[in-house]
Amino acid sequence: MTESQIREQIVDLGRSLYDRGLTHGSSGNFSVRLDDGYLVTPTNACLGRLDPARISKLDHDGRVVSGDKPSKEAFLHLSMYAKRASAGAVVHLHSTHSVAVSVLEGLDDVEPIPPITAYYVMKIGRLALVPYFPPGDAGLAGAVAEVATKHHAILLRNHGPVIAGTDLESAIYATEELEETAKLFLLLRGERLRLLSKVDVAELERRFQP
Ligand code: ZN
Repeated sequence: MTESQIREQIVDLGRSLYDRGLTHGSSGNFSVRLDDGYLVTPTNACLGRLDPARISKLDHDGRVVSGDKPSKEAFLHLSMYAKRASAGAVVHLHSTHSVAVSVLEGLDDVEPIPPITAYYVMKIGRLALVPYFPPGDAGLAGAVAEVATKHHAILLRNHGPVIAGTDLESAIYATEELEETAKLFLLLRGERLRLLSKVDVAELERRFQP
């Protein structure tokens, strides 16, 4: 895809998420890795009404080269790219059900959402849980970097998900899968569950490698 096609894709997918209530106000941000840097959605921009020409462009070191000022959370994206050579795009939302799970007391640190469905295992695999930090706190970048080598899907406590994919579409599909699984997880709280077994999960990992 050319850079201008990627800019159009960012606008289209942003509008789609906004129209379906997966993002609200000026929350949420995307980025895409280019050969010569990164495209990042601007600060205080509504993902439902992005202008392709005003999307921020950063160089390899994260310096702004054109467009509006980037999202204040761009550092989350750069932490992911620094640790994951395969990451072509990163999505961060404040989507309701994922945020709701991020607030629950007593989550399992190793497996905050258990393997409920095959698609969750295939698109998310093992979700990492990162402790709470105030927005923009430098400690958050370090905490994300610490788990990003092993995890492409991270849930920030009392905040929301950060998910990397090979391209923007796959990062968004994974974020949507997490949101739907978070909804199921909340719906099923208190029920006795028949989770996928370790053998089921290993078989999915062998076949689909999330
Ligand atoms: Zn955020």
